Amino acid sequence: MVRMKRNPTRPVRVGRTTLGGGHPVAVQSMCATRTQDVDATVEQAEAIRRAGGDLVRVAVDAPKDVEALSEVRRQTTANLVVDLQENYRLAARVAPHVDKVRYNPGHLYHHEKDKPVLQKVRSLVEVAREHDCAVRIGVNCGSVDPDIKARYPGDDVQAMVESALEHCRYMDDLGFDRYVVSLKDSHPRKVIEANQRFAAARPDVPLHLGVTEAGIPPEGIVKTRVALEQLLSRGIGDTLRVSLTLPNPRKHEEILVGRQILADIAAGRFRSVPVFDDDTLNIISCPSCSRVENERFVELAEAVKAMTVYAQRHALTIAVMGCRVNGPGETDDADLGLWCGPTHVNLKRRTESIGAFTYDEILPRLKQELDALIASRTAVEAG
Ligand code: SF4
Repeated sequence: MVRMKRNPTRPVRVGRTTLGGGHPVAVQSMCATRTQDVDATVEQAEAIRRAGGDLVRVAVDAPKDVEALSEVRRQTTANLVVDLQENYRLAARVAPHVDKVRYNPGHLYHHEKDKPVLQKVRSLVEVAREHDCAVRIGVNCGSVDPDIKARYPGDDVQAMVESALEHCRYMDDLGFDRYVVSLKDSHPRKVIEANQRFAAARPDVPLHLGVTEAGIPPEGIVKTRVALEQLLSRGIGDTLRVSLTLPNPRKHEEILVGRQILADIAAGRFRSVPVFDDDTLNIISCPSCSRVENERFVELAEAVKAMTVYAQRHALTIAVMGCRVNGPGETDDADLGLWCGPTHVNLKRRTESIGAFTYDEILPRLKQELDALIASRTAVEAG
């Protein structure tokens, strides 16, 4: 059991695990199998649990996923969390089968826009209460509620923090205290800043830490380690996920990496420098989940990494995302972004769409764009 300095957060029970309140930092992961493939999802949930995972998250996007989830629940003893990105209206149907529900305030904002956000939060809280579930308010920098984002121009970290604080107030006003918060970005610096600011404002709320879309190991591990070392060593964080782009048979390695980072911090073995280098090529890629519509996604992320080695000394960001749920928004800040559909990969230059290309066409097209970007930057630098 890992013991280290911890902020005095209140305890939030999730199934058999308790987050916060001085309990050991819990380590979690998420299934990347198709939720409707019950055998594969159970196998992965069990692999994560056996590797030491305290919580296993599963995505639900359609009524058929709910049916599958009830069967997954029957076949695994893992503490299950459901991830409702765009589908908060399915909450009442999934809650009976899980121990925690995660929602994204940014996505909640966009659905049933005529309903006040508080009303949508209230319905989630009622469901959570009825089915003995905890809730995670999961804020992602790439999908912050646009009204809040507009109030903090140039400070997307504060926009994330304010969005989380606003939803904490909703929970508090509803008298519901079984909630935790996460504030994630693909850059460790923003993750560190956001969590520090939030923890200063709400030291009582347990925090779920993670660098989203950290990418392929070893870079994905380094980014996560940089953020976790800075936060956990200050007592911030009650549970964590290491989001790595890994093929399905290796998904449980996220838990092993998380446990290793925790053990190193507890033993005072700090391996990373406290700043993350911004002067080189930065490839971010999502850890994949059941929403991936083409299994070539992980292979594509690896191919992008291999193909772009020649551009290593250029300070550019390339984002590779697995699906349309988070792909379009979370690639907006990247110099070049790819997000995967069933047969085509969408290519973007920041917010501008370049087009959709088949999985066989995308790499040469990406190289063409990357070369053009490098050439234009070199020309500007040469004056
Ligand atoms: S981008 Fe899509 S596939 Fe990737 S983790 Fe996010 S929701 Fe899942």
